[in-house]
Amino acid sequence: MDIQVNQISKTYGSGDNQVAALNRAAMTIHAGDFISIMGPSGSGKSTLLHILSGLDRPTTGTVTYGKTDIHHGTDRELSAFRRRKIGFIFQQFNLLPVLTARENIIMPLLLDRQKPDEAYLQKLAGLLGLTDRLDHLPHELSGGQQQRVAVARALIAKPDVIFADEPTGNLDSKSGGEVMAMLCDIREKLGKTLVIITHDTRIAEMAGRRFYIVDGELSEVTVS
Ligand code: ADP
Ligand code: ADP
Repeated sequence: MDIQVNQISKTYGSGDNQVAALNRAAMTIHAGDFISIMGPSGSGKSTLLHILSGLDRPTTGTVTYGKTDIHHGTDRELSAFRRRKIGFIFQQFNLLPVLTARENIIMPLLLDRQKPDEAYLQKLAGLLGLTDRLDHLPHELSGGQQQRVAVARALIAKPDVIFADEPTGNLDSKSGGEVMAMLCDIREKLGKTLVIITHDTRIAEMAGRRFYIVDGELSEVTVS
């Protein structure tokens, strides 16, 4: 399923406090693409990712998944769509501290009243090196392990598309590299679309297609 991003703009605030965060961004994401997005702080990267993934709405423009215009429906429809089709990985791992790794991973399913698929959970845990960490609490895990739990949580509902907003931004380069290697491996093995924001050129270069944003203007980098 392709994603069409059609001339999306986003303006925050009103009157004299208006901030134009995104100006007519356009891109086509093909099923299975691995895309990286770079750009200076405040250039609109998170805004773009939030609108693509349905965490936020554009001021103008559309985002269509196949034939579905995701911002056309109600907030309720949008969150249902997001729960089933999209996984999101944050820079801060956003794990619930009182829940074990396993409970954090299956939380999206519980919120959607679905039963966890134990075999799939075990498969993800294996791919992410978490098999013997599932009963630990977040504070008993390293940063890299916590982010790998967050990766499993993003994948547990078997979404088609994974969005990651600086997933290695809070990690040292070794554990960041491990998280990225596992994410790339999973993308290939499970056939996911991956869109990632990063400040790290080496990570950006792992992607098949690279984009750059400056002052809300999105462009694709042509790799020669
Ligand atoms: P980046 O992810 O590249 O750092 P952002 O998308 O977070 O950039 O922000 C783009 C611009 O929009 C910045 O000027 C930022 O301050 C502004 N902005 C982002 N979110 C909000 C918000 N909720 N309210 C007001 N301004 C915002
Ligand atoms: P990053 O650049 O790492 O993406 P930011 O600090 O720009 O992180 O933004 C973190 C969150 O804070 C964003 O999701 C955005 O919605 C919100 N935000 C950013 N700038 C503003 C702002 N000027 N006013 C209100 N919220 C903002």
